[in-house]
Formats: sequence, C-alpha cells, structure tokens
Amino acid sequence: MRRILLGKDKVFQGDLILVNARYPYHEEYQGKNVDVEGTALAADAANALDLAMGRMDGWKNIVPVSGWRSREEQQEIWDESMRDNGEAFTRTYVAVPGHSEHQTGLAIDLGLRKEEIDFIRPDFPYEGVCQTFREHAAEFGFVERYPSGKEPVTGIGHEPWHFRYVNTVHARFMKEMGMVMEEYIPFLTQFVHGENPYKMEMNGCEVLVSYRRAERAGQTEMEVDERAEVSVSGNNVDGFVITQWMKERH
Ligand SMILES: [Zn+2]
Repeated sequence: MRRILLGKDKVFQGDLILVNARYPYHEEYQGKNVDVEGTALAADAANALDLAMGRMDGWKNIVPVSGWRSREEQQEIWDESMRDNGEAFTRTYVAVPGHSEHQTGLAIDLGLRKEEIDFIRPDFPYEGVCQTFREHAAEFGFVERYPSGKEPVTGIGHEPWHFRYVNTVHARFMKEMGMVMEEYIPFLTQFVHGENPYKMEMNGCEVLVSYRRAERAGQTEMEVDERAEVSVSGNNVDGFVITQWMKERH
C-alpha cells in the first residue's frame, strides 16, 4: 500500500469538481490552460477534445465557440445577456458569475461551423458530425452537461452544445447511469474508499472508483494500491474521488 496526503485545497481541484449555482468555482486554484483551435481549455480537456476531433475529422465542421472564461468575462456575458435577452433567458442559459463551469477550463461550447454563430446558444444538432461527436464523447472523457429532462436537477436549460470533461472512466460511468454531475457526485459517496469501491473493467484493466470525505482540518490521508495508477480529484463539495487503474501482475 502507498500513502497519499491531500490538503484541503485539493477538494476544489480536479476533473470532477461540481460547479453550479450552489457550488462556486474556486478561481485561486485555476490550473494552466492550453490552446485548442483558438480556444483555451485545461490541458487534459484540450488534448481529449483534439483527439476526438482528429478521429472524426470534426474540426472541418465544428468550431469551439467558448471554452475557458475568467470570472470577469462571465460577468460581462451575464450583464450583456440580461440587457439584451432579459432575466428569464439569462437565468436559463447563463451561469451566475463565479459559478460557471467555463471558469474551470473543463467545459466547452461547440457549434456547427457556419456563417453566423450564436455565442450563447450555438447550433449543435442531433445529426451529422455533431451527433457523431455526441455519441462518442464519453470515449474521450466528455459528457453532455445539461441534457433535456434534467433541467430541474442542473438548474440550467437544455444545452445541446455544452460538454464537460470528466475523463474517460467517469464519462462512461455517468453515461451508463444516465446521471448528470449533480446526481453523480452524491452517488459516488456510497463507494467509501478502502471499504467498498466500485469496480469496473476498462480497456482490459480493472478500475476502482471510490470516495473519501475530506478531514475537517488539516490533511486527509489515504492508502492506495501501489500497483495502481492513481488519479484523485476533489468534488468541490466535501471530499475526493479516487480512481485507481490496476496494472496487471506479472
Ligand atoms: Zn457552455
């Protein structure tokens, strides 16, 4: 076994942070963003998106409309939309400044390439290359963040164009469970780390997913299998999600 120590700040960082009207994004922990097709995204999300588009020759017909935004930019979009579209529209399609997934660098709005692109509600139809991307998005670590029917849960209107990077393990798990982040993050807390992790098979590898609540004060200590490749993400609520890829024993 190998010991891991995590500071409280790690609760607010990682691929699985839940950011919505209730849980703000902690901007002080902003990671580095990189450029993908002229848009800034967190490195892992950018690489995954580029890989997906490369596989389906997507950039020919798809444009990244909006990736990472600073809090200030989110505020400008909010103010503009309030002025031009009114409060009801804005509250449905624009996240409150400080609470936008776009501030994390893990979210991307995609649009069908055409002459005029609506910045707030780009066209990303359920057909053609857009649908091909949607169907394969989970294989590259992306989920449709605001699907139809989940409006009461997410608090945001149906947004066919907004995708969120959570990595391939969790994108697949979320898709299988038919859950959005607001459902998935609480759901994971039942798989207590060191007691009853969820086990799944991925690319011939056993993957263990578990949850550990953060200590109220000081660092949180946990043990992981030394044979595993481990990734830990905060959930932006109260703890950590641990993903362990078990390597084969030889
Ligand atoms: Zn968006």
